[in-house]
Amino acid sequence: MNQNSSLRGGTEPRWRARWHRTLVPVACLILVLVGAWLAGRAAERWALTDLRRTAQAALALQVGALRAEMQKQASLPLALAADPEIAAVAGREPGQPLVTRVNRRLAQIAAATGAAVIYVIRSDGITVAASNAGSERSFLGRDYAFRPYFRQAMTGGAGSQFALGTVSGRAGLYLSRRIDESGGVVVVKIEFHDVEAAWRQSGDGVFVADARGIVLVASDPTWNFATLREVGEDERKRIRAALEFGDAPLTALPLHPVRGMQDLVRVGQGSRPARTALALDAPIPGTDWRLHTLTPVGSAVDRERVQAWIIAALGTGLACIGIATVAGRRRRTRQRLAQAATRREELERSVRERTMELTDANRMLRLEIEERRRAEEERRQAEAERERLGRELAQAGRLAALGQFAASMAHEINQPLAAIRSYADNAAILVRRGRGEEAAENAFAIGRLTDRIGGLTRQLKGFARRASPRREPVPLADILANSLELVEARAKAAGIALTAETPAPGLCVLGDGPRLEQVVVNLLQNALDAAAGHTEPRVSILVRNLPGERVAVEVRDTGPGLPEAIRAQLFDAFFTTKSDGLGLGLAIARGIVEDCGGSLNALDDPAGGAVFRMELAKAPVETTP
Ligand code: ADP
Repeated sequence: MNQNSSLRGGTEPRWRARWHRTLVPVACLILVLVGAWLAGRAAERWALTDLRRTAQAALALQVGALRAEMQKQASLPLALAADPEIAAVAGREPGQPLVTRVNRRLAQIAAATGAAVIYVIRSDGITVAASNAGSERSFLGRDYAFRPYFRQAMTGGAGSQFALGTVSGRAGLYLSRRIDESGGVVVVKIEFHDVEAAWRQSGDGVFVADARGIVLVASDPTWNFATLREVGEDERKRIRAALEFGDAPLTALPLHPVRGMQDLVRVGQGSRPARTALALDAPIPGTDWRLHTLTPVGSAVDRERVQAWIIAALGTGLACIGIATVAGRRRRTRQRLAQAATRREELERSVRERTMELTDANRMLRLEIEERRRAEEERRQAEAERERLGRELAQAGRLAALGQFAASMAHEINQPLAAIRSYADNAAILVRRGRGEEAAENAFAIGRLTDRIGGLTRQLKGFARRASPRREPVPLADILANSLELVEARAKAAGIALTAETPAPGLCVLGDGPRLEQVVVNLLQNALDAAAGHTEPRVSILVRNLPGERVAVEVRDTGPGLPEAIRAQLFDAFFTTKSDGLGLGLAIARGIVEDCGGSLNALDDPAGGAVFRMELAKAPVETTP
């Protein structure tokens, strides 16, 4: 399971990293481009809306201006038609002076109103007076009966027509009015050069087209008499016949609608590259004409679009960077978490393994401890068994020694007893034979032998306690001197230095003198036994005064000393470490000392050797009266 998860953890991040490295930048780039394009489109639309609003306002202004220009002239024919002199000129055979006067007046009025030409046509169509009478291209004498504006005025009282001047060759709006008095027609021709110049200056393309779509006035001179729509062949012939626009070819305007944008057109400018323009148009009130404006879309919209592109690209770019940063951080955090989890798992696994190892080690340790405890127990049991066996052996030894002792005792007694027997038999024979003297000798010998046996039993009794010990003052010096005397020979033979402190003269202890001597002799003999065989064998007796009217006699030696194990059993009856020992000496000695009201203890001298200390009460000093 761990393996699976590590496999998964190993491949997935690599796959993801590859994905992040390649796809994320591409996605960001696409996002930036799409964002910029959308923003460009939006900016373009907003800019166009703005442009449309301003162009619409400009169009309304243009229409207003043109209409004002036309209205300014519109009332002029009516006023002139009512003029008596003009009526007279149009009448039959006017005099030359009148004609000249009228010509001058018309010239003045034309100059004052800005009209291109003002002229008077007789009812037969011949021009009889004109503001340009003095000029080269004077209308005087010309026949305009064919002109629709003449016929309209003649029949309907008023007429108007936009046409190319046949004489001047310049296009203009002809406004006509019938002179009711004389039956002629007065005509005012308006030309739009100033308007066209103003339009050109504005930079926009502006033109006026009539109901048939033929351009009459335009900011661009090449557009004049071009057509918005296709003009049919019949119509074309008719226009030609009426000399409306001279021999203008009536070609189509170089405007091409932009697909999907109904008010946008591409404007071709000959060899110049086509540019996009916003095409708007509005009717000119009082006419069947429409004023068209072509506002260049170019730079403003382009600028807006480029700005939007830059801003959007920057914005989406920054957003992408932000998103990439956040995503990167999240990815790194995820990786860190995954690594931490792996580390934690490893740690837990190693802790588990370590714990198992420790548990095993613990179990082994416990088993070992158990093993050791068992071994210790076995060892203890074996030791106890050994001790028991030792004790039993010792006991058997003691019993054997006791038997030996009893046997030697029996032998000691049996010998004198056998001798007594033979002395007694001999004495009886000697008495019977009458040898009284010799019989007496045997009787004396029997007496001596019984004394000897008595001595032996006395010696044996010495090992038994006295029921009622004596307690009398005994000079300590005597006890020590008598005891030393008994062992001195042995010490000397063994080469052991034997020294004794002399107690204070007259110092007496309470007790049984001979028994205390027996105690001291026993202590001295044990000390000699212990010291024998050592490099500097020495046995000494020390006397110490103790508080509370007591005195201590210490017997010291330079022997092996008293280990704790031995010290604990010293005073037990039958405890001995000697092959020929009985183990009764110290037990009896302690009994004697205690019977005397004292104490006997053994110490181990740290300097080496053993110390036996006998403490006794001092006898009160008798004061001589
Ligand atoms: P025995 O002398 O017959 O062994 P004791 O009762 O006198 O019996 O002594 C008991 C034991 O005490 C001795 O066997 C000896 O081991 C020990 N002992 C007595 N005196 C001394 C001593 N001065 N130094 C070392 N061991 C001693």
